[in-house]
Amino acid sequence: MPDESVKVAVRVRPFNQREIDREAKLIIQMKGQSTSIENPDARNEEPKTFSFDYSYWSHDGFKTNPDGIVVEVPGSNYASQRKVFNDLGQGVLDNAFEGYNCSLFAYGQTGSGKSYSMVGYGANRGIVPITCDELFKTMSSNTDPDKRYEVLFSMLEIYNEQVRDLLSKDNPKGGLNIRQNPTLGMFYVEGLKKVPVGSYAEIEKRMEQGTTQRTVASTNMNATSSRAHTVVTIVFDQILKTPNGETKKSSVMNLVDLAGSERADSTGATGDRLKEGANINRSLSALGNVISALADLSMGKKKVVVPYRDSALTKLLQNALGGNSKTIMIAALSPADINYDETLSTLRYADRAKKIKNRAVVNENPLD
Ligand code: ADP
Ligand code: MG
Repeated sequence: MPDESVKVAVRVRPFNQREIDREAKLIIQMKGQSTSIENPDARNEEPKTFSFDYSYWSHDGFKTNPDGIVVEVPGSNYASQRKVFNDLGQGVLDNAFEGYNCSLFAYGQTGSGKSYSMVGYGANRGIVPITCDELFKTMSSNTDPDKRYEVLFSMLEIYNEQVRDLLSKDNPKGGLNIRQNPTLGMFYVEGLKKVPVGSYAEIEKRMEQGTTQRTVASTNMNATSSRAHTVVTIVFDQILKTPNGETKKSSVMNLVDLAGSERADSTGATGDRLKEGANINRSLSALGNVISALADLSMGKKKVVVPYRDSALTKLLQNALGGNSKTIMIAALSPADINYDETLSTLRYADRAKKIKNRAVVNENPLD
């Protein structure tokens, strides 16, 4: 099994009200796989150009159907939720059925469109719900009587470096412990609820339950935005009867909506919020350091220590980053000149993530 790079997509959203009110200018251009950004303070400078597996233009060229679903205007290059699912979510699904671990994470500043792509709003469901829906549709089309499925759902958030179970009403003070499996070396959250789910409707219900349990603190950037990392994990098992017993194909899907990548100062945070920002950045900067170390490794550098242990997030994402997983990153971009610095730093982050190599294997074992 050859090493495979992390797939990286970028997506640019429409202007938001704040940007319209401030008469913001569009500084992002896309052409094929490449994305360019113009420096608004140096208009005659060449735009900086980056190349990604997918560059999604979702800035304009859309209309809303009577059923509330946003679709492309014919002839435009608008990338809809369905388009993004078809490119990214369908691959996750196919890999899950083959028994690979998959990870999908969304990066970007608050308000850039991470949750829109991952979870979506209202009728405009994002990759996660569509993937779950399709998972159950595919399972229900199975006609093999020797095959059965088991699906476990869990949802947690990392807030101030503490892990909270979003499916539990009473989390211990100080959060759940992260432990390391002594034989496999993998980190896991001790006591995290993993609930069996038998339909898409059940997953939907659990996701709603989890979403209402999230720690929501307002910042100037986006009043309802969560300052926490949210991780949805789906364990998908396929159990097959064989003449000699049973075998199990297992896939772990990690779907991660990261907290805003902006520095605490640009959101006007002070006091507690600032301290919290520093902690959020601890997980995000640890993620950045892990990505850099992995990029160095894949460029042939020797004696690189990958600092997974530096944060809760990187411990839990260890497999997703440089391990046994097929991994996709979506970087969400603001189109506006007023967010130039953050958007450029998101593009650079995404550019580094492209260099990570993973080695996914099919997880298939006899059941005893
Ligand atoms: P984040 O999770 O990064 O903080 P959100 O996903 O909540 O940001 O997006 C902020 C706002 O922008 C939301 O109102 C959302 O509906 C809108 N938005 C984001 N991405 C898109 C998109 N691709 N198309 C249309 N609206 C979008
Ligand atoms: Mg969000």
